[in-house]
Amino acid sequence: MIPQQILEAIAPCGLSCKKCFAHIDGDIRKFSRQLNKKLGNFDIYARRFETMVGDPIFKKYPDFKEMLDYFASDNCRGCRHEQCKLLKTCGVRACHQEKNLDYCYECEDFPCQKTGFDDHLFKRWVKMNQRIREVGIETYYEETKDTPRYV
Ligand code: SF4
Ligand code: SF4
Repeated sequence: MIPQQILEAIAPCGLSCKKCFAHIDGDIRKFSRQLNKKLGNFDIYARRFETMVGDPIFKKYPDFKEMLDYFASDNCRGCRHEQCKLLKTCGVRACHQEKNLDYCYECEDFPCQKTGFDDHLFKRWVKMNQRIREVGIETYYEETKDTPRYV
């Protein structure tokens, strides 16, 4: 029996929902919210620092802030609870439910052509699931829990 904590963290495709920038309890969202709070009204200061410090880098602050706001606000409870907000073409979610499987590596059709992933993601999907099959989901979870999601 796979622990619920692992099922929640790692989506049926093998990607980590918990590390996704959109996850409601993810570090990216959490730290973005914290940084947003710490920065306060930095936009006023960014305009001043452009002249005071004389570094044109401060001109880029509005774009940075827009991205930070996006990371801080978007949220999702994970693939096992709702439709993925990022991978609109994902074919795994509905498929694993139909097949009643926790992960693609358990499937006799793996690796199939139903994922809807682009080439980069498809290769990652195959690699992740091969590794999970090799070492088991619990070891895989331990191996990857501190690695970045975006590789
Ligand atoms: S379901 Fe999609 S949007 Fe939601 S946390 Fe997982 S990868 Fe991110
Ligand atoms: S058919 Fe493909 S997408 Fe569906 S569960 Fe099997 S490996 Fe995953």
